[in-house]
Amino acid sequence: MIYLAVIGLEVHTELKTNTKIFCSCKNEFNLEPNINCCPVCVGMPGALPALNKKAVEYAIKAGLALNCEINTLTRWERKNYFYPDLPKAYQVSQAEAPVCLGGYMEIETQNGPKKIRINHIHLEEDAGKLIHSEYGGSLVDYNRGGVPLIEIVTEPDLSSADETLVFLENLRALLKYIGVSDCRMEQGSLRCDVNVSLRKEGEPLGIRTEMKNLASFKAVHRAITYEINRQTEILNSGGEIIQETRRWDDQKGRSYSMRAKEDAQDYRYFPETDLPPVKISSEFVRQVKETLPLLPKERAQKYVEEYNLPQYDAQILTSEITIADFFDECVALFDNPKMISNWIMTDVMRKIKEHQTEDIVLPINAKNFTKMLKLHQDNVINQPAAKTLFEHMWHQDSKTDPEQLIQKLNLVQISDEGELENILKEIIQNNPAAADDVRGGNKKAIAFFVGQVMKATKGKANPKTVNELIQKLL
Ligand code: ADP
Ligand code: MG
Ligand code: ZN
Repeated sequence: MIYLAVIGLEVHTELKTNTKIFCSCKNEFNLEPNINCCPVCVGMPGALPALNKKAVEYAIKAGLALNCEINTLTRWERKNYFYPDLPKAYQVSQAEAPVCLGGYMEIETQNGPKKIRINHIHLEEDAGKLIHSEYGGSLVDYNRGGVPLIEIVTEPDLSSADETLVFLENLRALLKYIGVSDCRMEQGSLRCDVNVSLRKEGEPLGIRTEMKNLASFKAVHRAITYEINRQTEILNSGGEIIQETRRWDDQKGRSYSMRAKEDAQDYRYFPETDLPPVKISSEFVRQVKETLPLLPKERAQKYVEEYNLPQYDAQILTSEITIADFFDECVALFDNPKMISNWIMTDVMRKIKEHQTEDIVLPINAKNFTKMLKLHQDNVINQPAAKTLFEHMWHQDSKTDPEQLIQKLNLVQISDEGELENILKEIIQNNPAAADDVRGGNKKAIAFFVGQVMKATKGKANPKTVNELIQKLL
């Protein structure tokens, strides 16, 4: 039996505010445990929360970038559950009136563009972190407690593991673009729960399971694939899917049932009495809108129109803000967008892929990178030398002026006709048969001579001059 997969996501992202959402403790990662806490964020009786306006601003910003409607009045609820990482035994969250409603993000799929609808985005406080000690027992670090989070809840519009990955990659790029989160999955600033169900064509949605503990996009992909297979087997053998929460074990490559899925009523949501509802004026929304940068699609359009780049190239260049910013910096320094784009699309992207990290780090700067391109454009160095120089700049030395580097690395192109002619003459003498081939019009033989001159000059000969000399001498 063929089933269609139905997938919906709940994506949690920590916001990059300076301070926590309801107190003035710093919002910082990787500190000594429990030093970034105060009576509010460890839930001392009587301590009163005060809302961080920046968190609301960032939530609105995310909502605008995801085409949401911004609620004019947003409220807080207490979500109750007992777990030692939650000192108050409730999490301040939003259930009834979240900051953002509706919305969508468009992704590219095999069947063309597809809109993945967003149900809503709400704000909440993060919980602390449990550290399971090697000496037995568990320790708790409340530094993370009270860090602002947005939860982005999609409609169940995704239909495969691949599609889910594309959506997540686009979402992460977008949130980084607008600067509300650094979205580091390995540090937990982006976390995602995945809901999966199966149904037959034309039939209503099936019963879903929710998977937790997905620490990387790869884990998300594997967990979805596993869950689709697991549910398919159950249904094919006449069984029923139980609505439950499952925990993904990435090492074992399988998931385990954690608990029957709790319903909203299990959390006994009730109004947060210490925080008043927040009115969001259209004026405030307008101000936030003004802080939005050009989003990837608009920026790609600009590159197509202003720099005449192919749509495909523009899309790659704008897919990550670090790359798009680097491209812009380069264009401001060196007026050859096409050449810059070509180098970024090939050599720079290849390097980035080689050193795949969650955050793109460019060890080269725009100033020296464009100097290198200019040296190549001006024929001071040829293509192979430019590649050598680029490698050197990327791995060893990005600070020294490329003009000095090409001297040091002995890469300056030899265009001196006399010098090249002498080298070529000697090669012709040693290869009379190949020389006859050239005279007979054999193109491959020409390439042979170019190659030999390059070898003799360690790749520094000006290929144009060499070609002219071959024509002249043979
Ligand atoms: P709850 O409040 O019980 O968690 P929601 O309606 O908020 O339920 O849904 C949570 C997530 O589950 C959403 O991302 C939604 O897209 C997804 N979802 C809902 N129904 C299904 C389904 N039948 N199959 C897959 N995902 C689903
Ligand atoms: Mg939910
Ligand atoms: Zn605090």
